[in-house]
Amino acid sequence: MTNIYDFIVIGAGISACTFASLLNKRSSDLSILLVEHGSRIGGRATTRKSRKNKILEYDHGLPSINFTEPIPEDILKLISPLINSKKLIDISKDILLMNEFGYLNNAVSHDLIYRSSPLMLNFCEEIICQSINPQKINFSFQTLIKSIKRRHDLWEIKANNGKLFISQNLILSSSLIAHSRCLKILNINSIPLRDAFIPGKDKVVDALLKETGKLTYMMRKVYIFYVSNSSVVQKFNHQYLQITFSKTIKEDLNFERIIFQRQSDGSIIMLLHCSYINNLPEINILKSLISLFSTHKLFLDLFLEARLIDTMDWRASQPLDNLLPKELQWSDSSKIGFCGDWFDLNICGGVESAMNSSIRLVKSLT
Ligand SMILES: Cc1cc2nc3c(=O)[nH]c(=O)nc-3n(C[C@H](O)[C@H](O)[C@H](O)COP(=O)(O)OP(=O)(O)OC[C@H]3O[C@@H](n4cnc5c(N)ncnc54)[C@H](O)[C@@H]3O)c2cc1C
Repeated sequence: MTNIYDFIVIGAGISACTFASLLNKRSSDLSILLVEHGSRIGGRATTRKSRKNKILEYDHGLPSINFTEPIPEDILKLISPLINSKKLIDISKDILLMNEFGYLNNAVSHDLIYRSSPLMLNFCEEIICQSINPQKINFSFQTLIKSIKRRHDLWEIKANNGKLFISQNLILSSSLIAHSRCLKILNINSIPLRDAFIPGKDKVVDALLKETGKLTYMMRKVYIFYVSNSSVVQKFNHQYLQITFSKTIKEDLNFERIIFQRQSDGSIIMLLHCSYINNLPEINILKSLISLFSTHKLFLDLFLEARLIDTMDWRASQPLDNLLPKELQWSDSSKIGFCGDWFDLNICGGVESAMNSSIRLVKSLT
């Protein structure tokens, strides 16, 4: 017989992991299943192992975690053990800004900026480790949900691999199957959350679908370059470095930042983040980098030796504005909840919004 979970969470990113860990701390005997399309934990804050060279492992999504100062108390409770054990490292000194004239200076930020050590996916793993009964938290990776149905007061969740999962409560940690962008991305004809309810049946869900429809998204493309261990690489004495680009450079080239991440064999992976709304113009990326860094010999030498080994398209993933209000996070009548960086008050965003939304959702469950 199919196992009936107390909670199924769609997604295994920061918001899903924060939700599962906090719920487990509060009610340690509840069974929770996180169903994730990707093959690892972390969502957009995950880490990729190179398919061709297994030694290479790099953070191809979120490169650093910003928190507004002072850090909200509930988030601080979750992250202070990680800061104390140096699993979250302050990297504000490892971030430079390139201005429009090509000068490099230390970047000034009002936020606290961390990175997870050794890799970004460890952040979500550590959050899950804080639960008090981790055996109750299960994962199903490489599982894409295309259909959700509410039948006999239970949730039936169907995956692309033919698996059927059943739960008392359902949490969507991503706006994907509540937003029309899923039609193209998942190659389906209707929005799964809309299909689950006839209009008028659940006011929270109706309002959520309406508000989610107004969300606009930013796309990101990450170019992944590799420089093998050589005399050039040995002269570069950073384990990790991030260079953000000025507004003018962003507007001209769509370059957001470049990250240098040292590998276990001494080689370097460089991840160039480009952001865009509609289209990313075709340009010669490496040539543009060489021109931008022409007066910085150390970087120039790296780019001259660099080889593009992969790219990652983060399609329609970052909500830009019209984030949803907290009142739409839980419907008690249908036992469905929502969390993620598509909720909040437009004062933070990204990771902080994602964590805030999950902390609030757990508190609001009766
Ligand atoms: C390249 C990049 C750079 C970024 N830079 C910053 C930054 O500098 N600062 C900042 O604050 N934020 C940044 N972000 C955003 C930050 O990563 C996110 O805000 C945060 O990770 C959101 O976490 P989440 O749990 O809400 O969503 P996600 O991490 O997107 O998790 C949702 C998960 O749900 C899964 N999922 C969705 N639908 C389904 C389905 N139907 N079936 C199965 N699984 C499904 C997805 O695969 C995903 O893993 C960046 C993101 C990217 C990609």
